[in-house]
Amino acid sequence: MNTCELIEKLYETNCLETDELLFVLNNMDHESFQQLINRSHETSLKYYGDSVFVRGLIEFTNYCTRDCIYCGIRCSNKKVNRYRLSDEQILNACREGNLLGYKTFVLQGGEDPLLTDERIIYLIKAIKQEMPECAITLSIGEKSYKSYESYFNAGADRYLLRHETASERLYKQIHPKMSFEKRMQCLWSLKEIGFQVGAGFMVGLPGQNHEDYLKDILFLNELKPHMVGIGPFIPHSDTPFAHSKGGDVKTTMMMIALVRLFLPGALIPATTALGSIDSKGREKGLLAGANVVMPNLTPVEQRENYLLYDGKICIGDAANKCRYCIEGRIINSGFTLDLSVGHHISFSGKCVW
Ligand code: SAH
Repeated sequence: MNTCELIEKLYETNCLETDELLFVLNNMDHESFQQLINRSHETSLKYYGDSVFVRGLIEFTNYCTRDCIYCGIRCSNKKVNRYRLSDEQILNACREGNLLGYKTFVLQGGEDPLLTDERIIYLIKAIKQEMPECAITLSIGEKSYKSYESYFNAGADRYLLRHETASERLYKQIHPKMSFEKRMQCLWSLKEIGFQVGAGFMVGLPGQNHEDYLKDILFLNELKPHMVGIGPFIPHSDTPFAHSKGGDVKTTMMMIALVRLFLPGALIPATTALGSIDSKGREKGLLAGANVVMPNLTPVEQRENYLLYDGKICIGDAANKCRYCIEGRIINSGFTLDLSVGHHISFSGKCVW
């Protein structure tokens, strides 16, 4: 079978053999790329209609004990102005998001050594008590099974933990003193506990090749996460990758589309990183099969301190500006802004995953 035929097979069956997928990755020409994007777009329409779901992102701490080579807030970067939002600032950001119509709040941060489980549980309960119709997503890195369980029992709905790359070789190169097995295990634990789980990976990392992307897709196909974050790697000037080349739009679109076809019911964000390397990057992500956007709710004073990479967009834009900017982009791309809570279809009673 040629690439176009294999894409048709993937579209119809949501599966390919390993060698077939590698063939597709290695033999993507202009025509097959267009076909892949069209089939992916059709698939998201079939599963979620033209809805694009919204998650308000609150970057609540940039303290981090990890030293991920690519990341601007790695602990070795002494130039970072470290901050930690107070409980009240976090709640206010949620309140502001709620007034803008958002019903999911993503609490993201570095692996802050002073962030206790008690505080996370307090925050989950406080947000849920005041805004019971809202979903809470946590994105605070690797924790113990017991900790994850305590967040879930306190009412957290979802957890984002990108696997970053499913290539053990590459993972080890870019994550000093971290364990590939541990990260994977965290994802399986989160799933077992009952979270809607988000995995995901970066595209265009130094040294990343087609076999590595193959591993990403096969891993996702095995884990079957509910959400998948895929964004281009973008160099940060105060990291060892300062002078490396970053990921490109086309490869990122290709990965979004392939993941959409393997996991047709997944929630896939058109990421800020994609919007940062191309002024129409998020729109391109949506057309390639993404169906989530994550406008920023972090207080504007702290935005410039949560720079994971250079050139991050929306650094100076107040929350309401992001809201209307993003709505315009969604509508102009032919989608509608969906302000419902936006659970994965297997959690919304419509389908069994
Ligand atoms: N500490 C949390 C949150 C990490 S930041 C955790 O471990 O999950 C969120 C994501 O930003 C990361 O998972 C990573 O994929 C992405 N990221 C970090 N640095 C980046 C860079 N230079 N370019 C693109 N994406 C980056």
